[in-house]
Order: sequence, then structure tokens, then C-alpha cells
Amino acid sequence: MPTPYPSRQSVSSNCTRAATSLPTPLGHEWRCTGCDKLLGRRSGSVVLIQFARGHQYRAPRPVSAVCRGCKTLNET
Ligand SMILES: [Zn+2]
Repeated sequence: MPTPYPSRQSVSSNCTRAATSLPTPLGHEWRCTGCDKLLGRRSGSVVLIQFARGHQYRAPRPVSAVCRGCKTLNET
């Protein structure tokens, strides 16, 4: 009686996805100093700002924003 081996297939681990080719690089999170809401993401010298309806802005720093939750003026 042959030993019932589970059909082991050699998993080829070809990781072809390069993490550096993202269209929008995720930087450090820029959060409100008052209530910790996410305002945008810092990516080097620019800030990426996204809105709920799909608008995206990319602005050079420094950037000021008033939080929609607690109205605190944040600068980065
Ligand atoms: Zn806030």
C-alpha cells in the first residue's frame, strides 16, 4: 500500500510585483493635532490630500488645513 502523500505542488514564488511602482506613493500620515483625523499623507516635500468623493490633491509643503471635525488649523 503506497503512502498517501498529499499532492504537494512546488509553489513558485515569483514575486513580480514591484512595490516601488505605485501610482500614489503612501507617505506618512498627516493627522489633525486636535482630534487625530486623517488629513492627508506626506510624501517627501508634497502632501497628498484625498476627499471622500474621489478628489485628490497634491500640494507642495507647507500646507495648511482646517480640520472638518474640530476646526483646528493644522500645518505641515
Ligand atoms: Zn480635528
